[in-house]
Amino acid sequence: MKRRQFLNSSIAAAIATSLPTGQALAAALAAMSEVSGDVDAVTGGGVSITLEQAAVKELSDSLRGRLLLSGYEGYDAARRVLNPTIDKHPALIVQPSGAADIMNAVNFARERNLLVAVKCGGHSFSGKSTCVGGMQIDLSSFRGARVDTESKTAYIAGGSLLGELDHEAMAQGLVTTAGTVSHTGVGGLTLGGGFGRLARRYGLALDNVAGVDIVTADGKLLHADANEHPDLYWGVRGGGGNFGVVTSFEFKLHPMQRTVIGGDVVFPLKDLAGVLKVYADYAPVAPDDLYLDFVVSSDIGKEDGIAILHACYSGPESEAAKVLAPIYKAGTPVNDGIKSIDYVALQSSWDNTDPRNTGSYLKSGFVNDIPDTLVSTITQNFKTYNERGTTMFFQHSGGAIGRVPANATAFAHRKSVANMFAVVEWPLAEPRDSHVRYIKEYWKDFEPFIDGWYTNEIADHADKSVNRNYQGNFARLLKVKNKYDPTNLFRLNANVKPTV
Ligand SMILES: Cc1cc2nc3c(=O)[nH]c(=O)nc-3n(C[C@H](O)[C@H](O)[C@H](O)COP(=O)(O)OP(=O)(O)OC[C@H]3O[C@@H](n4cnc5c(N)ncnc54)[C@H](O)[C@@H]3O)c2cc1C
Repeated sequence: MKRRQFLNSSIAAAIATSLPTGQALAAALAAMSEVSGDVDAVTGGGVSITLEQAAVKELSDSLRGRLLLSGYEGYDAARRVLNPTIDKHPALIVQPSGAADIMNAVNFARERNLLVAVKCGGHSFSGKSTCVGGMQIDLSSFRGARVDTESKTAYIAGGSLLGELDHEAMAQGLVTTAGTVSHTGVGGLTLGGGFGRLARRYGLALDNVAGVDIVTADGKLLHADANEHPDLYWGVRGGGGNFGVVTSFEFKLHPMQRTVIGGDVVFPLKDLAGVLKVYADYAPVAPDDLYLDFVVSSDIGKEDGIAILHACYSGPESEAAKVLAPIYKAGTPVNDGIKSIDYVALQSSWDNTDPRNTGSYLKSGFVNDIPDTLVSTITQNFKTYNERGTTMFFQHSGGAIGRVPANATAFAHRKSVANMFAVVEWPLAEPRDSHVRYIKEYWKDFEPFIDGWYTNEIADHADKSVNRNYQGNFARLLKVKNKYDPTNLFRLNANVKPTV
C-alpha cells in the first residue's frame, strides 16, 4: 500500500503539544486533509489502479464538501455501516454538500472506472453502501426535508433519514409511507421498495415518489418524472441504486391525524402456533388501515423466546376495538403495549431493536399467502440456542401495495402478503461462518413458500437470481441500465448488468 498521503498522527500530536489547543487542532486538521501522495484504488472490475496525487487534489479542490482519505478524521465513521461485521476501506470518500459535488465525484469515478458505493442511511445488511478500494459517496451531510403544504409534496435531500421525512411532514398534518425504523435512509429504502406502517394505505414509499433529481453515470443532473425521462422514473422506483445518485426525492403526501393506535403485544413462546395461525388468517384480509407484523425471536444466551404482534392502526378510532380484536385471540399476552400514540413516536419505537452490536445474517423472501404448512414449518423449526439469537419475521404487505400493477414501476412483487425473513445473530467476537451456514440451511425449508425476494435485502445472491427476481420487469430495466449506466458505474446494489 502506497498510503503516503497522510501526515501521520505523531506529526499531528507534535503540533498539538507545541501550540495552544484551538490552533493546534485547526493546524492538525488542515495538515491531515492535505493530499500528500498517490492513492491506491480498484476499478469496478477489480483491477488495481493508482490515482495520481494531482488528480485527487483536483477532486478535493472541486468540492464544497469533503474528501476523506484513510486516516482523516471522519473516515472511519463514514466507511462504517450499521452492520458491524462489515469492515471495508474505500480508497476515497466524498461527502458532498450538494448535487454539484456529486457530479464532480461521479465524473472522477467514471473517467477512471472506479468502483463506486453510495451511502445514505448505511442500513444495507450486506454493506452495499461501502467498498474496498473504491470511491464511497457518503450522503450523510446532504440531508434535509421541505414540505409544500399546498401541493402536499415533500422534497427530501438524497442523504436524508426517514425520521426527517416523518417529522417534517407530520408537523403539517401530512404523511407518506416510510419504514419502521427512523434511522433508515430514505435513499436505499425508497429506491428498492419501502414497506412500512402506512404502506397498506398509501402504497410503498416508491409508489409515492412523484419525481427525482438524479446524477447519472455521465455526470449530468437529470430530473425524472412521468413526463421527463419517464423510462428513468420508472426504473428508479424498484431498480435501487442502479442508475445514479438521487439527490432529491419528491414525495406525494396524504393528510392524516397525528394519533394512531399501535405498539407490540408480546406472547410467551408456548403460544407461538396460535399467534402465527391468527397472523396467517388475519394479515391477508385485514383492512388497509391496519398494519400488522409478526415476530418470533430468541436472544443470544436465552433459553426462551417471545412471539410479538406489532400493530399500527390508523383508521377511525370507533373501529379500533373491532379491527384489533383478532390479536387478542392469539394467546395470553405477557405484555400488551398497544395504545394511542403519536405516529412519529411509533415510527421510532423500534429504533434500538436492530442487531447493531452483534454479528447478523438475514435470509428473506416474499410470501403470497401463509398456508398451514408454512405455519407448522415455522412452529416446528424455530429453536432457541445459547450461542446464537434467532428471529423469524413477517413484515406486512398487501392492501394498496397489491393494487399497483406489477409493471407500473420496476418493483414487481405486488402479490405478496408479507416479506418473510429469518435472522441469525452471534456475539461479535465469534467467527461468523457456522452461524451463516446454520441460517442458510435453516432457510432451505422455507424456499418452497417464497416468490422472489426484496432487493433491499440483497446479500450474496447469484447474478441469475438477481435478474430472475425482477420478474417481468427485467428486460425493461436492462434497457434503462444500458441507456443511463452503460459501463455499470453503479454496481453495488441488486445489479442489472448492462449488455452494451
Ligand atoms: C434496522 C433496519 C430496519 C429496516 N426496516 C425496513 C422497513 O421497515 N421497510 C423496508 O422496506 N425496509 C427496511 N429495511 C431494509 C432497508 O430498506 C434497506 O436496508 C435499505 O437499503 C436501507 O437504505 P439506506 O439508505 O439506509 O442504506 P444504505 O446502506 O445507505 O444504501 C443501500 C443501497 O441504496 C443505495 N442508495 C442509498 N441512497 C441512495 C441515493 N440517494 N441514490 C442512489 N442510491 C442510493 C446504495 O447505493 C446502496 O446500494 C430495514 C433495514 C434495517 C437495517
